[in-house]
Amino acid sequence: MNISEWLAHAVPLLRASGCPDPEVDARWMAEDTLGMTRTELKFESDRAVPPSALGQLERMLSRRCAGEPVQYILGSADFMGLKFQVGPGVLIPRQDTETLVEAALIALQGASAAPAVLDLCAGSGCIGLSLASLAPHARVTLADVSREALETARENMHALGVKAELRHGDLFAAVGRERFDLIASNPPYIPRGELAGLQREVQYEPRLALDGGADGLDFYRRIAAEAERHLNPGGAIYLEVGAGEAPAVLELVKAHLPCVEAGTIKDLNGVERVVFGKI
Ligand code: GLN
Repeated sequence: MNISEWLAHAVPLLRASGCPDPEVDARWMAEDTLGMTRTELKFESDRAVPPSALGQLERMLSRRCAGEPVQYILGSADFMGLKFQVGPGVLIPRQDTETLVEAALIALQGASAAPAVLDLCAGSGCIGLSLASLAPHARVTLADVSREALETARENMHALGVKAELRHGDLFAAVGRERFDLIASNPPYIPRGELAGLQREVQYEPRLALDGGADGLDFYRRIAAEAERHLNPGGAIYLEVGAGEAPAVLELVKAHLPCVEAGTIKDLNGVERVVFGKI
């Protein structure tokens, strides 16, 4: 069987199983297994698939058809042009979150010589480690309540060749009395009652990273209430929010922090995805 024959066999099976992007997922699995780039796969699709690779591809295909996210199957996800290892202990980095990282990067350009940055609820570390990689003058701390997530973040830190402090604990309890120039967070924000209705891929992700309490806002309440004690003068907080949550989170930020500026930023789909406050 050659590559294009395997793709022609895999795509309809993926589609029939309810996979939203069958072509993309089939290609990712083939690229990863065969060690080929997207361009190589396209122009050398008449190459034979070696028998050992075929067995592996078929195992991946059946996992994907059962609903497992392709990033868990491959063990990695692309984010901000970087590769992050992911497993079922961490949320899969989303493109939505790149909006938060881009806004934080702009803020860091105007910041002090070595700004202290905190990624709260760091998960795989995709926010904080992208900042460490793309704004090398920043001193980055990653905090998470999950030791499993911190282990993945540590592996990602080594793989990306960047430095960060890793702290374990529940929100700000992880960082004692430390203060930062920029706090970035993508906390759990799905209203609990909506979790069961999310697409089947999301059901594979850790509930701990998704469950934002009855109205989805539990973590924003706690973060907003405690943030001032962890921000340096002139500091800023950037929070990712779920669709429709921005007005309520902006109110929380304004109510708890003496902001000189506060607002929201839209993602590529036009959804208000980030709430920020500068003090
Ligand atoms: N973006 C995720 C989703 O919509 C949720 C992430 C979160 O709760 N922080 O599935």
